[in-house]
This record gives sequence, structure tokens and C-alpha cells, in this order.
Amino acid sequence: MSKIKLVLATHNQHKVVELAAILKPLAPGVELVGYDGPEPVEDGLTYAENALIKARAAHQHTGLPAIADDSGIAVEVLGGAPGIFSARWSGTRDAVANRRLLLEQIKDVRPEHRGAAFVCTIALVGFVGEDEVTFTGIWPGEVAFAETGEAGFGYDPVFVPEGFEVSAAELEPEVKNSMSHRNLAIEQLASYLANT
Ligand code: IMP
Repeated sequence: MSKIKLVLATHNQHKVVELAAILKPLAPGVELVGYDGPEPVEDGLTYAENALIKARAAHQHTGLPAIADDSGIAVEVLGGAPGIFSARWSGTRDAVANRRLLLEQIKDVRPEHRGAAFVCTIALVGFVGEDEVTFTGIWPGEVAFAETGEAGFGYDPVFVPEGFEVSAAELEPEVKNSMSHRNLAIEQLASYLANT
């Protein structure tokens, strides 16, 4: 793959670190550049719409191809919520408050009905002309009854990935990054970049 410069349109430092760590080995020819331009209003109704709004703004501002991700946790018994509202579920951006509210909301839901998934959609805008493409990764699991673990961010301490008995916050970052929703979306992005 020849050298490609991509603007990464996110101000979330946790996501920048995870995205960069996953993308580097998959697409060594890609140089990720930070974005510090204006942040658009994220008023989309889906992960894809919101990711596209952010990537479009960064592409228009910099003239470079841009990627942005939108992600969240979808809880089955809540009909897919918090979903696109995950970052502010408690009315603030406080991850501790968001997790507490979610645990409280489903405290009486039995173990077999606590299915959930982390979802990540990455949008790429301006790589081929003004083309817009999206890639979605889904990491299934369930919501625990209490928080465990210190690693990761957001809902990691209350999310137990399928096939595990520990939370995502108890996994080594390399383990999480090798199977997460973000990893699955980035694998598709890397393969698109390599083949387009
Ligand atoms: P966004 O920045 O609008 O995409 O919001 C994403 C929100 O979803 C984050 O603030 C977290 O609350 C949650 N989230 C997304 N990915 C993860 C993850 O890998 N672990 C834990 N929480 C996540």
C-alpha cells in the first residue's frame, strides 16, 4: 500500500489510541493525522449517520480523506439503547454515571436476558473523489450485574464479551483490540484501503 494520509476526526483520546493501535499493523502505509477543526452537531439517528457527519466535516475542513467513528453499547432489553446516546446516557459525559444508570435500569433483568453488543461504525469520506463509505463491527456479549476491571473506558467494566467470564475492562488492551467492535470495523476499513 502506498503512503496514505488520513485525518482522524475524533477528540476522544481513548478512541484515538485504540484506533491507531489497531490500524497500524493492518495498514502500515496509513499515517493518521489528528483533527482540531470545528466539531459538527452530531444529530444523526444512526451510528453511520453520526460517523459520516464527523468524517464529512473533517474532510471539508482539511481537504484530506477523513475517517470518524461512532460507537456505543446496544442493550437488547432496552431495544438497542443507549446506542448512539451511550456517551451521554446519564445526561453527562461522565462514564461512571453512565454505567451506574445502565446497571440500575436493568438491575432486575435475569442473566439470560442481559444480552448486549458494542457497535462501531467507521465512516471514510473523500478517499476516492467525494465517495462516502461506512464499515460496521459488532462485538456481542452481555451486561454484568456490577463493575469489574480497570482497563479500557466507557462501558468496558460492565460488558462481558461472549466467550469470556470477565469484563472487557479486565482484558489486556491487546486482547480487547484483537476482537473488539472497533477492530472488526477497522479490519474492513484496512482491507478497503488496500484494495481500492
Ligand atoms: P461517541 O464518542 O459518540 O462515539 O460515543 C461512544 C460512547 O460509547 C463512549 O463514550 C462509550 O461510552 C461507549 N463506547 C464505545 N466504544 C466503547 C468501548 O470500546 N468500550 C466501552 N465503551 C465504549
